Amino acid sequence: MVCDESVAALDVSIQAQVLNLFMKLREDLNLTYLFISHDLGVVEHLSDRVVIMYLGRVVEVAPTEDLFREPNHPYTKALLAEVPRLDTRARRFAPIEGEIPSPIDPPSGCHFHPRCPNATLRCREERPVLREISPDRHSACHLNDDH
Ligand code: SF4
Repeated sequence: MVCDESVAALDVSIQAQVLNLFMKLREDLNLTYLFISHDLGVVEHLSDRVVIMYLGRVVEVAPTEDLFREPNHPYTKALLAEVPRLDTRARRFAPIEGEIPSPIDPPSGCHFHPRCPNATLRCREERPVLREISPDRHSACHLNDDH
């Protein structure tokens, strides 16, 4: 079942009820969800496996626990740094630098390079390939070529 931003417009208490219903139906009916969301808290709560996309490209794929414990791609790291957490409440909020480019005319090479703190000349020119970085994990970043 494809669920596209299914709980985005709901207030927190209704959202929790709907998410519980999603999980119950998954269990009872043996369903698989393709759950599309910008809310990483919801994603972490509901998913077994996460695909992170930036400007229409997949940049990282990983089991949920691994991705949230040790993100690989700089965009994933930046996204997770923006998620408020009880244990990091004192930390300074660090939004991703720069504007989101137009998907109609995306940046060359790695789409994320204008906003990436690790970008090099190669990133501007060459599109990184999504490749396996460890069993069951994939990432599209030139930094992984050094390992
Ligand atoms: S390929 Fe380069 S610009 Fe893209 S995420 Fe990796 S380091 Fe950053």
